[in-house]
Amino acid sequence: MLNIDSIDVYYGSVQALWKVSLTVAEGEITVVVGSNGAGKTTLLKTISGLLHPKSGNIFFFGKKIDKAPPYEIVKMGIAHVPEGRHLFPYMTVEENLEMGAHLMRDKQEIAETLDWVYQIFPILKERRNQLARTLSGGEQQMLAIGRGLMSKPKLLMLDEPSLGLAPKLVLQVFDLVKKINNDEGITILLVEQNVRQALQIAHKAYVLENGRIIMEDKGQELLHNEHVKKAYLGL
Ligand code: ATP
Repeated sequence: MLNIDSIDVYYGSVQALWKVSLTVAEGEITVVVGSNGAGKTTLLKTISGLLHPKSGNIFFFGKKIDKAPPYEIVKMGIAHVPEGRHLFPYMTVEENLEMGAHLMRDKQEIAETLDWVYQIFPILKERRNQLARTLSGGEQQMLAIGRGLMSKPKLLMLDEPSLGLAPKLVLQVFDLVKKINNDEGITILLVEQNVRQALQIAHKAYVLENGRIIMEDKGQELLHNEHVKKAYLGL
């Protein structure tokens, strides 16, 4: 579905990604793990068209997208849930969700998509008229994911959804990600510092270190890899 072929990405003269190649297969959960500053956010921003690679290519269903602007990438079916959620705090839950459907013109379609998101996250329906800022951290993360789903993406990209959440909520968020993949058939690209939990739900996983992919394998295999165990799992 998504093929990234040897991209180099810079911020001005500073290089952040080196020859990064990665494939996301349709229907799967692909995970990129790495520590602070490894380049995970840069990778997602480049796929969404917020940054453009200096060299290399990105293909989505065979179409080259690395020079396309963000709104076209959304239209093609890629949604990006950013790190830190970026909700509109003084808007209601429902208004925040509707912002995720800003490229949809058909009111009926927006209403149906809203119903679909409320089915996945019943708590958001209960709180539909509440201001986003009054939600708990876990609920805010659900709202951010729900807003991403409002564009009816084929590929949902999640930037550290577990960040800042209590351990119990982290598990809940990962369960939801699994459910969105399993029950709704949405392909997921997840980047995470929470290596253990992320690898557990990954079909395929990559390790990003200092802007370079240093390893790729099935999630379960990487969980047992010596380097991963030492560097990321504290074993
Ligand atoms: P984190 O989990 O802390 O967000 P990350 O893996 O997402 O880390 P990135 O945010 O992609 O990492 O950062 C990768 C590298 O690019 C880092 O060295 C960072 O300092 C640098 N970087 C990120 N944003 C900018 C920017 N706007 N200008 C210059 N350098 C940047």
